[in-house]
Amino acid sequence: MNVFIRDLVQKEPLYLEIVWSDGKKTRWHLGRLQSLCPCARCSRLPHREVKEVFCQGAYPVGNYALHLIFSEGCSQGIYPYTLLRKL
Ligand SMILES: [Zn+2]
Repeated sequence: MNVFIRDLVQKEPLYLEIVWSDGKKTRWHLGRLQSLCPCARCSRLPHREVKEVFCQGAYPVGNYALHLIFSEGCSQGIYPYTLLRKL
């Protein structure tokens, strides 16, 4: 993928807005994002509750993914850009 994250914006505590290098913007509810956690454990669970969680950190992984730290629950997920750009 030839796009990268230009900016992470948090105007509201429960949402994260991602500004991409091509100008696209995606706005995620953090609880919804956590419910899609792609880690080995969560991806095997059939249903995940959408909670109200906050983002406590966001770290780039190579040039293809973002590691998000949530205020509670699972923070093991590495979110590929392909997922983060889907809305
Ligand atoms: Zn997880």
